[in-house]
Amino acid sequence: ATRTPDVPYVPTRQVVVDAMLKLAKVTKDDVVYDLGCGDGRIVITAAKEYGATGTGIDINPERIKEANANAQKANVTDKVKFVEGDLFETDFSKATVVTLYLLPTVNMKLRPILLEQLKPGSRIVSHSFDMGDWKPDQTINVDGSTIYFWTVPAKK
Ligand code: SAM
Repeated sequence: ATRTPDVPYVPTRQVVVDAMLKLAKVTKDDVVYDLGCGDGRIVITAAKEYGATGTGIDINPERIKEANANAQKANVTDKVKFVEGDLFETDFSKATVVTLYLLPTVNMKLRPILLEQLKPGSRIVSHSFDMGDWKPDQTINVDGSTIYFWTVPAKK
């Protein structure tokens, strides 16, 4: 993972993190993947507040260091894992929930990969950016931020 990040690091505000996980109805049985996880706050919150397990992927080793330190502080190292890598080269097929805060072009490039890898019924939540003509099941606004929610359909 030596290539340039596709998206700069901008953390999701905690109020928006909480709303994303609530919109996806995350429970302890979920496996949450944050693609481009930054400091790990989304999967750490999923573990701490809902008992979910989770994996964060980030291309920047500094972010992975921070995420691991934050997981220790939050006492959830048994539930979460952070991996340095390119989200476009990652197998996330075990996810039941995928969270995104990327960019419109990156979402569009990721869309066919999400549809191929994820099981029907898996949920996707995206902070700020939609997926073009794949209409979300729900869109909400939280404190000035838009959150989009999709469910992966049955395979054709
Ligand atoms: N998901 C976190 C959040 O919502 O707080 C961080 C979002 S930040 C806008 C995007 C993150 O994606 C950055 O930490 C960046 O390093 C990472 N990133 C960018 N391109 C990537 C790629 N190709 N593979 C993995 N991570 C990437």
